Amino acid sequence: MSLIDLEMISAFRPSSLDRIRNMILGTGAATMKSRNRFSTILLFAAWLVYVAMLFAFASPALAQNKPIHVIAFGAHPDDCDLGAGGIASKYAILGHKVKFVSLTNGDVGHQSQHGQELAKRRRDEAQEAGRRIGIEYEVLDNHDGNLLPTLEIREQVIREIRQWKADIVIAPRPNDYHPDHRYTGVLVQDASYMVIVPHLVPDTAPLTRNPVFLYYSDRFTQPQPFRPDIVVSIDDVFDKKINMLDAHVSQFYEWLPWTEGVLDQVPKDRAARKKWLAEWPHAARKLQPEWREALEKRYAAQAATIQHAEAFEITEYGRQPSEEEIRVLLPFFPPNPSR
Ligand SMILES: [Zn+2]
Repeated sequence: MSLIDLEMISAFRPSSLDRIRNMILGTGAATMKSRNRFSTILLFAAWLVYVAMLFAFASPALAQNKPIHVIAFGAHPDDCDLGAGGIASKYAILGHKVKFVSLTNGDVGHQSQHGQELAKRRRDEAQEAGRRIGIEYEVLDNHDGNLLPTLEIREQVIREIRQWKADIVIAPRPNDYHPDHRYTGVLVQDASYMVIVPHLVPDTAPLTRNPVFLYYSDRFTQPQPFRPDIVVSIDDVFDKKINMLDAHVSQFYEWLPWTEGVLDQVPKDRAARKKWLAEWPHAARKLQPEWREALEKRYAAQAATIQHAEAFEITEYGRQPSEEEIRVLLPFFPPNPSR
């Protein structure tokens, strides 16, 4: 309430408000000393309110300076790696906790293998990929190409998010060419409020704060294009990301090149094929022109030198982070130049 407000109200209720006004401003011989004391009390109270709000509304990681917990979902064992392998590496280097979860076991997408044989191979590749950058990787046993947004799988997603005590959840947008990707987006979207509801999935304790939910970047434009709210440079970990992708032999050196008719271009030599992978547009994630603005917002002059990045959209269903919280939960940006 401003002094002008007090003046206006006191015109209508002189007796009590005059007393308040006098307490604040002093009467007649009121001294600067009492005003200063009041200012000090006011500042202290504002600081207390600020600290209380920080604890009340911020993530557990933000409030208690604990490791940040990130969980990313993909439909297949390699999807998370493509969308967030770079920032996962960056979190792991800083000692934060990252888990990738594939909702299907990948037992279909291959030109010659299928079934349990392929599922085992895909699970082993995912484990190796996670090991290479120091994160956990879980492959759930739902069939590839058959994913549907069922209550059973929604509950699997809710349990994963709760057990990981996630501060950040990453998933595809529910608009995609592949039905498994699309339904992964729907399943995580459907879980994004339910993770805090106590009597739902009662075998796993609910979260006390809704996480921040992010979407991976994509190229789809209907019903609306991806919005790059957060763009993170991965130049410093690009080799680690390629090394992670290189673990998915059945995907990047067999299945995807086969689907694109370039299988004969994949080098046989291990070092040569990794170099080929680093230049393949699927893996390279070169900076998109429309990401530039968000990149410059947080990297300022450094943005001009950045070659590779990962971009994320903040979904409107989870907790909505302030700029300050974005910088705490994604601790990769140079200090805010505006401060
Ligand atoms: Zn996929």
